[in-house]
Amino acid sequence: MLNKSEGIVIHTTDYGETNRIVTLYTKEYGKIGVMARGAKKPRSKLSAGTQFLTYGHYLFNKGRGLGTLHQADPLDAFRYIKADIVPMAYASYIVDVIHKLSEKDTNNPFLYDWVFQILKAMDGGQDPQVLTFIYEIKLLPLLGIEAEVDCCVHCGRPDSLSGFSVEQGGVLCQNCIINDPRAIPLTSIAVKLLRMFKHIDFHRIGKIELKKETRAQIKSVINAYYDAYSGLNLKTKRFIEQIENL
Ligand SMILES: [Zn+2]
Repeated sequence: MLNKSEGIVIHTTDYGETNRIVTLYTKEYGKIGVMARGAKKPRSKLSAGTQFLTYGHYLFNKGRGLGTLHQADPLDAFRYIKADIVPMAYASYIVDVIHKLSEKDTNNPFLYDWVFQILKAMDGGQDPQVLTFIYEIKLLPLLGIEAEVDCCVHCGRPDSLSGFSVEQGGVLCQNCIINDPRAIPLTSIAVKLLRMFKHIDFHRIGKIELKKETRAQIKSVINAYYDAYSGLNLKTKRFIEQIENL
């Protein structure tokens, strides 16, 4: 039986001289692996639609293991992202996370939509680091490691929040912050942004400008939290760090 879905190419591996094994993140079926026979031949009809980070419509047999790709109609190659190493590094990380999740976990229409909206926004020139912050915060419940950012994780107070405790899994108010000497200090703006990132609708993301200090605070919270609980240890994430330090 042939299956049809829109999807995004999130990983490719060459197979032999002319074939390409492609991991598609599809709207209908989540993540699937397909063999694209002859896709490495320049004149192949599968060539353009099976390049890394391409959005398109795909026709395939799912199969039990690796499926077979029959048709690939590319609709967007995300050219702006690919033209610059910085958005490209962030976009590679965004899809690498999906590549590392189990197939079952990726079969989620919200998650597909988030990935697609982020790539579109990044391709439209929006700040790749901010988009990645939002993605990482929204991903936490799906990874089963949701953090409390709405009120103090210790006493439940919704105001005067002044730090984030990785150990306790959320923000702490100015009274409770003494409970974790390793808490990461946050300005009230950084707390507000963490909240906003958690609840924002991806279809409504406008331009968000962050000061350097705010960026650094949010980044240390997210990185420390991911390092402690996500189990993801991705080369693509380390590559972002290297680029930022250039
Ligand atoms: Zn408190």
